[in-house]
Amino acid sequence: MTDTQKIVIAIDGPAASGKGSLARTLAAQFGYDFLDTGALYRRVALKCIENDIKPEEIDKITTVSADLSQNLHEKYDDSTLRNDKIGDMASIVAQIPQIRRNLDDFQRNFAKSAKKGAVLDGRDIGTVICPEADIKFFITASIEKRAERRTLELQSRGIEAKQSTVLAEMRERDLRDSIRLNEHLKPDHDCHVIDTSDMTPQEVLDTATKIIKDRS
Ligand code: C5P
Repeated sequence: MTDTQKIVIAIDGPAASGKGSLARTLAAQFGYDFLDTGALYRRVALKCIENDIKPEEIDKITTVSADLSQNLHEKYDDSTLRNDKIGDMASIVAQIPQIRRNLDDFQRNFAKSAKKGAVLDGRDIGTVICPEADIKFFITASIEKRAERRTLELQSRGIEAKQSTVLAEMRERDLRDSIRLNEHLKPDHDCHVIDTSDMTPQEVLDTATKIIKDRS
């Protein structure tokens, strides 16, 4: 923990590993600020889809992300971003180095300006955005389990979803993310790895909470 007792928690991991709900719950529980960094990439993706910009139109995507980076502090209803079409486009735009640079400053400033503490979840928080984070988690689960969870989540929202299709799409997204993020997606040497495959959300929360409390 830093001198001022402010704490920064980095939570990374693949899609549907449970990192998002863990990050959100931890932040609420400890009264820390929370940033879902995937939503930033999703916001760029949504703007591209709305403006009919294709993945290969890199200049246009870069302009979208540069404009958006000025307004990222504005609150956004992120439930509109949670669909797989936007998630796939997000993982495509996230491959463009300039897009990542356009979003990096906002993420770093978010962590820096938090008063009591900040929890950021994403793919490269502990490795690139906040390498000095006080606590780093890498949340993972088998791809079959993640596909099962994602299918149930989509179905619970009334969206038709077949587990085999979700699994195939997830493999594709994992591959894209792992090629681009290279070593950044892998657990850092100083992070706590939690494999949630056989854990309930409450067990994951209890495990992470204990690690944070033991460190305080
Ligand atoms: O986590 P979420 O599924 O919302 O992220 C959408 C996509 O954005 C991911 O598949 C990944 O490609 C990209 N992303 C990223 N770096 C982050 C967060 C998300 O590249 N820190």
